[in-house]
Amino acid sequence: MTETHTFLDQLTSLLGEHGLVRKPDAMARYIRDWAGDTLGTPLAVARPANTEEVAEVVKRCYEQGIAMTPQGGHSGLVAGALPDANGQELVISLERLNSVRAIDPVNFTITVDAGCILENVKLAAFDHDCDFPLSLGAQGSCQIGGNIATNAGGLNVLRYGMMRELVLGLEVVLPDGRVWESLNALHKDNRGYDLQQLFLGSEGTLGIVTGAVLKLATRPTQNRTALLGLPSVQAVIDLYGLARRECCDLLTAFELIPRRCIELAIEATSELRDPMEDAYPWYVLMEVAATGPVDLGSMLEALLETGMARELVLDGALASSDTQSAQLWQFRESMLEGQRRRGEHLRTDISVPISAIPDFVARASEVVMAASPACEIIAYGHVGDGNLHFNILPPTTVADSDKKAHLHDLEELLFEVLDDFHGSISAEHGIGRTKQAPYLARLSPIEREMVSGVKALFDPKGLMNPGRILPAGPPQQAKAMINIP
Ligand SMILES: Cc1cc2nc3c(=O)[nH]c(=O)nc-3n(C[C@H](O)[C@H](O)[C@H](O)COP(=O)(O)OP(=O)(O)OC[C@H]3O[C@@H](n4cnc5c(N)ncnc54)[C@H](O)[C@@H]3O)c2cc1C
Repeated sequence: MTETHTFLDQLTSLLGEHGLVRKPDAMARYIRDWAGDTLGTPLAVARPANTEEVAEVVKRCYEQGIAMTPQGGHSGLVAGALPDANGQELVISLERLNSVRAIDPVNFTITVDAGCILENVKLAAFDHDCDFPLSLGAQGSCQIGGNIATNAGGLNVLRYGMMRELVLGLEVVLPDGRVWESLNALHKDNRGYDLQQLFLGSEGTLGIVTGAVLKLATRPTQNRTALLGLPSVQAVIDLYGLARRECCDLLTAFELIPRRCIELAIEATSELRDPMEDAYPWYVLMEVAATGPVDLGSMLEALLETGMARELVLDGALASSDTQSAQLWQFRESMLEGQRRRGEHLRTDISVPISAIPDFVARASEVVMAASPACEIIAYGHVGDGNLHFNILPPTTVADSDKKAHLHDLEELLFEVLDDFHGSISAEHGIGRTKQAPYLARLSPIEREMVSGVKALFDPKGLMNPGRILPAGPPQQAKAMINIP
């Protein structure tokens, strides 16, 4: 106990009074994520102000054997940034590393601190007539470091790729406190192994990202948004194929929304009204964007005409201004809040090949409904990436104390169907704590060896975000995959 106090007093001397949070009430906002989940209270919350301070904090933790939880905007959905229940983890919040370091609009790159909020990076890029195209519902709170650690995806993946494709350089504090500086702004670089990519999606288990060079795109000068009513998931996928071909690669978003989500959005936001006269079983929210003299309006109208002639599209609302476009996007945002208000439910983040989505939705719905006829399925997602949130609300008759077990059983059934489709149990949120068991169960022996070998190389003491992705504790030294004498 005294040793811990001395350690924390030394951290206060290093970081200043505001740099180390120790009082339980002041720590409250660091222990709860967007979904409202909490696990426990940390040892303390360190708030270093620069890379050197992050490195010094990490070095001291490494020497003392103290576990660390890197934390960004705590919008992650797999409990990766939540300190565990035993009170022994030090949360290292990146929130004070929030400066844009440089922007090069000719090279189309921006160099930022990892604690920059995504929205602010997008605004900084706009100021230079560029766009940082990562776009997601949590962009007002999530940080670039969190986006890198989770390899975030979002709404525009089908055009710009995931975070993995948007990072050119990194600065990382390794688990022993050394700083790996690799802030390259090179669009092409083929020198040996791509170490950088190991940190994309590593969920804070290999080191703390403190800075990054990000790739920018041109800022679209015009966009068009449409919310369409469709008869079936097959029609959604057929329309998607048509849109990819007819919209000259200018398609930036293609979101699947079931009728129930439109209702949930209206429940959550009182200003929202039903977007069309009639209700349809499925909706698509799509957007096209361009820089330069392209007639997006005519392009979208032609697509919809073809879609209606083929009976894929039954009705639609086209935005003719930015305000109308924002109103259509409001459905996508409010439906998440509507769902959250329904209380405990199964959240999934899965992917299958795009062409398999109709069969998958049908089969998975059949299996889940057979096991729990009174549950409610809410399947929506970034369908242009094959990514579905196949979420399940438990039957109202299930007692609160039994909900977790009920939803767990349904998740297992759902994942079994997913295996038949060779899908992924995590398309974008990562593994964290909540998906660890199904992730480990699906790793082949050769994959286990490689994964634990990577962890052992970077974090032999197992102190960096323990218990996320892999079980807590020092990783087993991986046996050499290639037997070098
Ligand atoms: C409303 C809503 C919508 C969302 N939509 C999407 C979506 O469309 N696509 C998508 O991919 N995700 C989505 N998410 C999930 C979430 O926003 C992303 O995972 C985001 O990238 C997390 O960033 P964060 O800064 O909040 O990270 P946190 O939640 O703080 O942390 C996430 C993980 O990253 C680690 N970490 C954080 N910062 C660092 C760092 N600097 N260095 C090393 N490790 C670090 C943490 O330890 C943790 O394991 C959504 C979440 C919400 C609440």
